[in-house]
Amino acid sequence: MTETLLAPLAPKMTPTSTPFWAALGEGRVVLQQCDGCEAWVFYPRPRCPHCLSPALSWKPVSGRATLTTWTHCPRPTAPPFTGLAPQTLAVVTLEEGVRMSTFLLETAGRTLELGMALSPRFVPTEDGTATLLAFAPA
Ligand SMILES: [Zn+2]
Repeated sequence: MTETLLAPLAPKMTPTSTPFWAALGEGRVVLQQCDGCEAWVFYPRPRCPHCLSPALSWKPVSGRATLTTWTHCPRPTAPPFTGLAPQTLAVVTLEEGVRMSTFLLETAGRTLELGMALSPRFVPTEDGTATLLAFAPA
């Protein structure tokens, strides 16, 4: 199920993070992987946080994740998000082991549980300049 949802704010992209955001705009999830120690890296960085190698490659991943923690916010978390309240903010762990802060969709009538399977959802911003990565119960 696809919800009609537009995110009110676009992220500030950097040369390092642009491939991540560009892939989301194409409905794909990519992560950096270190060419030296093969560690997955998120958030996008110019060097591997494990071995400090600057040799990082963008690799496509499934976007499948599990729910690590969440909180239900009945009030807007900031003025631009007034139209999105209530929101369910979450930290998820992708299959590759990296964690990311995000928000959950399609949770009405669902019981959220730690470790539950999630799949990615791609949410364009209102200004059309970016796509955010959200998740929904798989
Ligand atoms: Zn490394």
